[in-house]
Amino acid sequence: MEFDFIVIGAGSAGCAATNELAKANVGTIAVLEAGYTNRVPQVKIPFGLAWTRGSKRDWKFKSQPTTELGGRSIDVTRGKMLGGSSSINSMVWFRGRRDDFDNWDVDGWAWHDVEGAFEEVESLLKPTRFVDPHPVSEAYGLALGDNGHAPPTPERESAGVFHVNLHSGARRSAADAFLTPAKNTGRVEVLTQANVDRVEFEEGTARRVILTDGRQLSARRGVVLSAGSIGSPTILMRSGIGSGEQLLALGISVQVDAQQVGENLHDHPAVGLHHAGANSGYGLAINQFPHWAVSPFNWLLRRKGRLTSNIVEAGAFFRANPIGTDGDDRPDCQSHFIPFMVGHKGYFITWGAGYSADVNICRPHSRGSLTLRSADPHEQPNIDLALLRDRRDVDTLIYGVKRLRDVLKKAPFETRRAVEVYPGDEVQSDEDIEQFVRDRCATAYHPVGTLRMGQDKGAPVSARLAVREVGNLWVADASIMPKITTANTNAPSMMIGLRAGKMIVNNIQK
Ligand SMILES: Cc1cc2nc3c(=O)[nH]c(=O)nc-3n(C[C@H](O)[C@H](O)[C@H](O)COP(=O)(O)OP(=O)(O)OC[C@H]3O[C@@H](n4cnc5c(N)ncnc54)[C@H](O)[C@@H]3O)c2cc1C
Repeated sequence: MEFDFIVIGAGSAGCAATNELAKANVGTIAVLEAGYTNRVPQVKIPFGLAWTRGSKRDWKFKSQPTTELGGRSIDVTRGKMLGGSSSINSMVWFRGRRDDFDNWDVDGWAWHDVEGAFEEVESLLKPTRFVDPHPVSEAYGLALGDNGHAPPTPERESAGVFHVNLHSGARRSAADAFLTPAKNTGRVEVLTQANVDRVEFEEGTARRVILTDGRQLSARRGVVLSAGSIGSPTILMRSGIGSGEQLLALGISVQVDAQQVGENLHDHPAVGLHHAGANSGYGLAINQFPHWAVSPFNWLLRRKGRLTSNIVEAGAFFRANPIGTDGDDRPDCQSHFIPFMVGHKGYFITWGAGYSADVNICRPHSRGSLTLRSADPHEQPNIDLALLRDRRDVDTLIYGVKRLRDVLKKAPFETRRAVEVYPGDEVQSDEDIEQFVRDRCATAYHPVGTLRMGQDKGAPVSARLAVREVGNLWVADASIMPKITTANTNAPSMMIGLRAGKMIVNNIQK
């Protein structure tokens, strides 16, 4: 099997990159996706994400247990299907702050460089205000003043109902927006259940891709690695690009000794406050059973009702830390509001009605890493998320919990106001809040940074997204972000994929 290009991973960025390559008519393209199709109701139905997590369409990665989290390991959910994590996510749409991109400090990636690509992505995904928010979500959206119909913005303190990439009550993933038109060109072949083990090189140029079942594909012009922040560095390491010492210890021959492959792993740390109250949000309560009973028919026949909820309907950005001595007053926390009673131990529906709001650190300081456990591609890597390793992140979440409670008090829930049941009113002192944070901190499922791009020689990937010291191998996914963006990472990942496709086309046409 020989193609001009091989794209590894059909996720948010991989689909966008594929579409650019297909549009430019650069030859034949194979897209290799380890997971399954996305053509199942639980992916199309926005509320279905409650069931896709933990299913065969989730990689079900776990982080390394750490002392900072009291020895806990947490779920690192990643989509394993066409559309990747855009087929399992909550569809909340944010570009990030403008200065996020300026602060990447990489030539060609400042805000004015990336803005046009966001616009192009949005012309296909068409994010719009969630059409049918629960009254408690509307109320939360008014907690920091009336933002009209605009979403909250990370540029300043604000709240609002989120803009989401769902249409006519159904998910619109990267596969729907980019892969379908790419396939329609007739130049793209998509292989599902094609799990990639490694890339092989000839005289330093990427030439072959080897699947875990032994199949081999050849690439005449290049290979694009879009397997995400967990998948891409592990494939690169199995291909011999990583810390030479570590690779040799696992019996992998070294192609390039690149010490920083897998380093710089970070995510948005988050904790949630859970509220219960009859007549507040959605939940499993006897008076809500008739609504749940008709909801599948409502969705199937009218694409309406509670199953159209993306679960995370509204949110806010606010400053939790005192304003910095340098005058820094940027929002440092994001909150997601869920108009459902969810379990205290994660996003599982539990008995009773209620709502929940979390607080995430927008720009965490802690940095972890990802390493291989063995050369066996079926074995999960060691994922050290390093949550709360930097003391400043613990302090931000302590301030953040206090500020979130204040924001919740200001939301005009009126008769629908519920009571905080977890951690509850008794948790007030800094010491007690810190303990709660350590007991419950998880992430917003936004891992980035493991193949950081940069102009410095240590960066595994160049500013043109080429893997250093080899030919015809590019990375297009969230792993290339030097620093996480201030809000959710799906739109930035698609922007990266789209720009990667354009850069590769440009590069080969020179
Ligand atoms: C539960 C959840 C909720 C989220 N909610 C939001 C949200 O509301 N808004 C938002 O902006 N962001 C959200 N995110 C984050 C966002 O979806 C991701 O940042 C984004 O999708 C990352 O894109 P990517 O292209 O880097 O990786 P992915 O989209 O994860 O794509 C990687 C693809 O590569 C495939 N792959 C991996 N390894 C291999 C291999 N060895 N061989 C072949 N294929 C492979 C994977 O199966 C996957 O399809 C959420 C994520 C999750 C998991």
